[in-house]
Amino acid sequence: MTSMKTVNDFNFKDKKVLVRVDFNVPQNADLQVTDNTRIVAAKPTIEKILNDGGSVILLSHLGRPKGKASKELSLASIVAEIEKVMEKKVMFSTDCVGEDAATKSASLQNGEILLLENLRFHAEEEKGDLSFAEKLAKLGDAYVNDAFGTAHRAHASTAVIAQFFPSSKSFGLLMAKELKAIDTVLNTGEKPVTAIIGGSKVSSKITIIENILPAVDNLIIGGGMAFTFIKAMGGKIGNSLVEEDKMQLALEIIEKAKQHKVQVYLPVDAVIADAFSNDAQIKECDIYEIPEGWMGLDVGSKSNTLFHDVLLNSRTILWNGPAGVFELSNFAKGTIALGDGIAEATKLGAFSLVGGGDSVAFVKQNGYETKVSYVSTGGGAMLESLEGLELPGVAAINN
Ligand code: AMP
Repeated sequence: MTSMKTVNDFNFKDKKVLVRVDFNVPQNADLQVTDNTRIVAAKPTIEKILNDGGSVILLSHLGRPKGKASKELSLASIVAEIEKVMEKKVMFSTDCVGEDAATKSASLQNGEILLLENLRFHAEEEKGDLSFAEKLAKLGDAYVNDAFGTAHRAHASTAVIAQFFPSSKSFGLLMAKELKAIDTVLNTGEKPVTAIIGGSKVSSKITIIENILPAVDNLIIGGGMAFTFIKAMGGKIGNSLVEEDKMQLALEIIEKAKQHKVQVYLPVDAVIADAFSNDAQIKECDIYEIPEGWMGLDVGSKSNTLFHDVLLNSRTILWNGPAGVFELSNFAKGTIALGDGIAEATKLGAFSLVGGGDSVAFVKQNGYETKVSYVSTGGGAMLESLEGLELPGVAAINN
């Protein structure tokens, strides 16, 4: 990773700093914030700027308003939550460009925070419109991107705007943490490096697997996608999930893994059920011998032991995707065992990153968040990073 410029490389005294955050937070019917993780995650960056003696102009989107203003998607409804997290008053501008934004940002004093209305009320934001980005840029003296969750989008406020701050653009501390975690797994982490890739389909994870093969020592494959591999290798998988058209690809992955000297661990047994339901009959069997009429919905206990041993011998771990249908309690044991194994390895000093979609949800819901080294805040952005793509929001600061 090229050395990245973060807010810690600047002193923001007397500067009005435009900070792109991802405050796309979940809300209830009364528009109250139900999970403030993303606001809490941006706090260190905002504090750093205020402590330097600067002021902060927050830029964010909320939901998908598709270029139209609406009360439901107004950021006005999250002002109170930001005030609670920051323990300080937050001003609000009813539009992100135009007179109100210009007046309020011009009169902003050091130590103050101003939140601008939802960027996506203007279609120009998602189009990456240059003159819209310039209008936003005129409101501040420096630009900080701390919105990892939208870093994979080339929008006006996430990428295009950076060109107006050639010598005063930087990453926020959350962005820096995310990028460092990815860099640890893919480049600098201590060996052995183990990646666990699970989830439903080979097709949605193939690019990630191909990109990480040169970086990892062990690859654990779990979830529904394992059955495509097992069938391709001649196993009987009953009615388990399979992508017939990806069987050849599965064999090619195994071959490529060999070339990269990556040890691939597929499940050796499965928890099988006679229906996709928590009320179904269940039993365990060899993963190569699943009877017709039965489907594998989780990895079995022998696989759990096998994976556990690999994890405990790992110094760097990436986890993306569940081992089974963890949403149904009868098929959650494999995913819980992975969480336990990663937690134990982390306690022994391994670095562990949980990134992307379902495994992040699982980790949060089951109390593993504090037992792993880092849980990514960006679903799509994390997946694209693991696929080896340079995110537009990252490129805009680095270039
Ligand atoms: P993904 O979105 O590709 O990461 O996949 C996550 C989904 O895969 C979860 O909703 C799991 O329920 C599902 N899944 C995991 N294992 C299996 C399996 N053996 N059969 C069917 N679905 C599965």
